[in-house]
Amino acid sequence: MIEPDKNCSKCKRLKNFREINIKKYPSWFNGAVPSIINKNSEILIVGLAPGLNGANKTGRPFTGDYAGLTLFHTLKKYRLLRGQYKEDGNDDLKLQNCSITNAVRCVPPKNLPKSDEIKNCENFLKSTIFLHKNLKVIIALGLISHKSIVSTFNLKQKDYKFGHSNKHNLSKKIKLIDSYHCSRYNINTKRLSQVMFDDIFIEAKKIILN
Ligand code: URA
Repeated sequence: MIEPDKNCSKCKRLKNFREINIKKYPSWFNGAVPSIINKNSEILIVGLAPGLNGANKTGRPFTGDYAGLTLFHTLKKYRLLRGQYKEDGNDDLKLQNCSITNAVRCVPPKNLPKSDEIKNCENFLKSTIFLHKNLKVIIALGLISHKSIVSTFNLKQKDYKFGHSNKHNLSKKIKLIDSYHCSRYNINTKRLSQVMFDDIFIEAKKIILN
């Protein structure tokens, strides 16, 4: 299964958090957020988890999140997106040769999933990755998604050090590129600049053109 049930109950804490949010914000999506998948894509982007007021509200990864502004802008710049992105998701956005998923599919309190929650979601990530038969590049946004990806390939974490722009071979066909997450925090603190984020997509496009 590539997607959990919208009301997945594998993680007690996340289920409880969802129930609180359903009461507080009844018109929001409030569920496990499905990935944006084009299964012929050569690039897969793996984020952390839905943001409370973003993907958890709109039901689409990165949509309505601050991080989405940077991500969708950059995808457009590198011709990996057609159409117009709107923060409420009522748009004609179409990803080109790329898919977007999250390591954890349900919104965690304070944007921080716990290790058992990350583990519980790993099989969904694994099926999502292996659904992509033409996959050449996975872009990990942040350390948690990097670790989850390495784990789905049954590789040793110690052989795969996370660092912005680090590249790793996951298999003969698939490379991993690490990026700092394009979160509001990382952008505001200048840990991640647009130039640094651009570099990741320039590299990904180089790999797929090879
Ligand atoms: N929204 C997502 O869907 N994923 C992230 O990693 C951050 C915001």
